[in-house]
Amino acid sequence: MTPVWYASLFRLEKRLRSALPGHCAFCLGQTLEEKAWCQECFDRLPWNKRCCTRCAEPLTSVRQVLCTHCRSELPAFSGAHVPFIFEGPIRQLVHNFKFEASPRAGHLMVDLYLETLTGDRESRSENEVLLPVPLFAGRSQERGFNQADWFARQLGRHLDLPVINATRLVDTPSQRMLGRQGRRDNLNDVFQLHLPSASRVVIVDDVVTTGATAQSLARTALAAGAMNVAVLAFARTPLGA
Ligand SMILES: [Zn+2]
Ligand SMILES: [Zn+2]
Repeated sequence: MTPVWYASLFRLEKRLRSALPGHCAFCLGQTLEEKAWCQECFDRLPWNKRCCTRCAEPLTSVRQVLCTHCRSELPAFSGAHVPFIFEGPIRQLVHNFKFEASPRAGHLMVDLYLETLTGDRESRSENEVLLPVPLFAGRSQERGFNQADWFARQLGRHLDLPVINATRLVDTPSQRMLGRQGRRDNLNDVFQLHLPSASRVVIVDDVVTTGATAQSLARTALAAGAMNVAVLAFARTPLGA
């Protein structure tokens, strides 16, 4: 079922896009290509290039391959693609998307994310499904929509991948208020999920903070019979945030 707001977002988005054709969304300068950004702003975005090869946590040293958490215990998911750091214009963009429900910001996130996918991404694996991080029902009602679900559906449309939804069984205290261990304890057995057999699951979120939610959902997916679980998110919080 498609909620009503999806349709109205699309209409508004169309209008906003046509309002500024050929202008960069970040600096309002002219763009030469069909893109919504100029090359200079694109290059200057906070890229999450130096990051853990397993969980995409930003690293402090170029010599590191895995972050300290993955070195002590590997996560249940096999890899993560999180191209941006949640700061500067990326933080602003997510903020506009999340709290002001700006469809222009949301579509810009989708376009930027798609731009970061390499060619091999286009040949999708068989049985691949997108699994957005669910919100507790009460929370999505409060906020109006689940941004991870919206992001996953847009990517699914572009990449021709089905979206599967998990249920969040219990509400959890705000992750922000808890330490890393607390966040882990807080997230045990909170999801319920039914998967088609032999699914390759890609967990989708907008911003990853510690990876504890992805870890918990990955465990649930594996327990539900997933062959493999990977994580896809738009941005990762900077170190120490
Ligand atoms: Zn620009
Ligand atoms: Zn890691």
